Amino acid sequence: MKRLEVLGWWFNEQAPTELPRPQLLVAPAAPERRAALAAFLRAGVALVRYPEPSFCRFACGEEDMGRADLTDGRFVWPEGLAHYVERHDVRLPDHFVERALAQPLPPFALPKAKFGLYDAGPWIAWGKAQRACPDLGGFEIPTLDVLDRIAEDLGPVPHEAILACRGSTRELILAIAGGGIELHQLKAGGRPPQRFAGWHEWPLCGDAPQRSAPSPMSGKPKPGVPMGEFFARRKQPRDERP
Ligand SMILES: [Zn+2]
Repeated sequence: MKRLEVLGWWFNEQAPTELPRPQLLVAPAAPERRAALAAFLRAGVALVRYPEPSFCRFACGEEDMGRADLTDGRFVWPEGLAHYVERHDVRLPDHFVERALAQPLPPFALPKAKFGLYDAGPWIAWGKAQRACPDLGGFEIPTLDVLDRIAEDLGPVPHEAILACRGSTRELILAIAGGGIELHQLKAGGRPPQRFAGWHEWPLCGDAPQRSAPSPMSGKPKPGVPMGEFFARRKQPRDERP
C-alpha cells in the first residue's frame, strides 16, 4: 500500500510525545517562497475532517486553524500547517518543499482513507535530526486506569496533572503550578525531583544524556516494562498459591 508521509504533527504540552516542537524549527524564508509554500499547503484536498479544530502551538491567538487533514497524494498535513509557515516561519523538510515549489505542480491522486495510510516515521526522524524533538524515550501517556494508580502512590506531592510516565525508571512528568514541569521519581529514596520552567528546558533527542540509567534491582521495574504492567504486577496479591 502506498502510504502518505505525515507533515506538521506537533508536540503537545498536555500529551507529550516525541513529536517536534515548531518553536525549534523557525527560520526566516524569502517572502515569495513562503507565500508559494503556504499556497501549496492550502490547496491540498481534504482527506479527513475532525470535530475539534487544531490550535496554534505558538499560542498566537489564531483560532481558525481548521479541522481537516489535507493531502497532495504523497504527503498529508493538518489544515493549519500553512499558518505555521506563513505566520511563524516554520521550516518543513526539503524534499517536501522542493515538490511544493516545483513547476508544473506534481500530478495529484487522492488516496482512500484507510487504516495505516499515514506514515509519521519520516516526519519524526526529520524532527529529531533537526534537534526539535523532546527526549521522551520510554515515556508514555498514562491510561486513565494507570493514572489512578499513580495518583494513589504519588500522594500529597503538589501537581496539576500527570503528563507522562516511564515504567522502566518509575519516573513521572508532572505539570506543576506556574506552567513548569517536574521529573519525579516515584520511589522511596529516589532521586530528588528535577524542575523545568517549561518544555523549552527539557532535553532534546540528540542531546548528551543527562540522566543516569536505572540500575536493575530486584523488585524494581526492568527497562522496557510499561508503567501499567508494572503496577498490575505489583498490585497482585503475592501469596495466593496453596
Ligand atoms: Zn500561530
